[in-house]
Amino acid sequence: MPRVPGRQFLNIPGPTNIPDRILQAMHRPALDFMTPEFWEIQVECRDNLKKVMKTENEVMVFASSGHGSWEAAMTNTCSPGDTILMCETGRFSESWAEMCRAFGLNIETLENDWDRAIDPTRVEDRLRADTKGVIKAVAVVHNETSTGMTHDVAGVGAAIRAAGHPALLMVDTISSLASMDFRMDEWGVDVAVAGSQKGLMLPVGLGISAASDKAFEATKTATLPRKYYDWNEIKTGDHGRMRFAGTAPGHLFFAMREGLRMLLDEGLDAVFARHQRLAEATRQAVRAWGRGNGPTLFGKDEAALSNSVTAVTMPDGFDANAFRGRLLSESNVALGGGLSRLSGTVFRIGHLGDLNEPMMLGCLATVEMHLKRQGIPHGVGGTDAAMAYLAEN
Ligand code: PLP
Repeated sequence: MPRVPGRQFLNIPGPTNIPDRILQAMHRPALDFMTPEFWEIQVECRDNLKKVMKTENEVMVFASSGHGSWEAAMTNTCSPGDTILMCETGRFSESWAEMCRAFGLNIETLENDWDRAIDPTRVEDRLRADTKGVIKAVAVVHNETSTGMTHDVAGVGAAIRAAGHPALLMVDTISSLASMDFRMDEWGVDVAVAGSQKGLMLPVGLGISAASDKAFEATKTATLPRKYYDWNEIKTGDHGRMRFAGTAPGHLFFAMREGLRMLLDEGLDAVFARHQRLAEATRQAVRAWGRGNGPTLFGKDEAALSNSVTAVTMPDGFDANAFRGRLLSESNVALGGGLSRLSGTVFRIGHLGDLNEPMMLGCLATVEMHLKRQGIPHGVGGTDAAMAYLAEN
């Protein structure tokens, strides 16, 4: 594949663009991770992560991708045969469920169409019917990256409380954290799972977990085998800092310190508003394309359309992967593909992390140019609609 000059437009929903400030923060020698100099960095990171997750709970960091923090959530709180009520949201609820099954957990799926937001009242009804208290945890993916739908975690938390059920609430915030509001404590979340390579703008390699007192209580009776991911081995000790099951991922901490400072300097509300504007501009473009029998928004619940990723359905008879392939090879714009049952019919535009208006408009204009170049039916004026929205809002 011949090189396309210029920078790549990385519009996949993670990993996201790493700002120069963060790259430069990593451009330094390694540090002994058993020294006060490193401890100071990790304490700052932990405390700022708490601000981003809106929690006073324990926050723990592993050298892993998000999968590690999924695994930690289950092995620290569950025993073989425990039942997890998994809210069906898309490929990531499916693959979290696959991991649970691999650990001998019983998955009960709360079925839901992938293009719709989950309905918390159905969680409440199911929990009320569970009079024997069999359900150990309710698991929800806050932002389903495969479908571009955001799910109502606050509503699920309220449903658990309304049902008076003891289930833990476990939430995957991997593609929502630091792109849209997530309030661990206020929403009653017991276990939050995050990763470094999306809204936090860092390289992949950190699995982040936060756990409530109730979740820590569950570790006392949970019998699933765990060692590397044992929360009790790494949680903040009497010395006031986290521990690591192995060598601390020092450079990722240098990066995280800088990234969290950038987010907090911008202000979380401003970060969320920036994501909302770029997401809405993207949706305006897709709606315009769809008016000419072209690509349409995959999600059907307007209010639940994600501010970090937009899933787009190709018109019948046109292959989303072929479309993306040419976009990348000819124009160096990387879009996400459809996952699992959406492969070939859906492409995804990531708009999270370190992104601004010209980057977003560059992506949308190039997508629109390729709709024309590749002979895909579409309504004209998508990029104009995005520009008009950004100009006026
Ligand atoms: N959950 C969600 C919502 C995701 O988007 C992803 C990755 O894209 C994962 C889990 C898995 O995370 P990782 O790839 O970091 O292991």
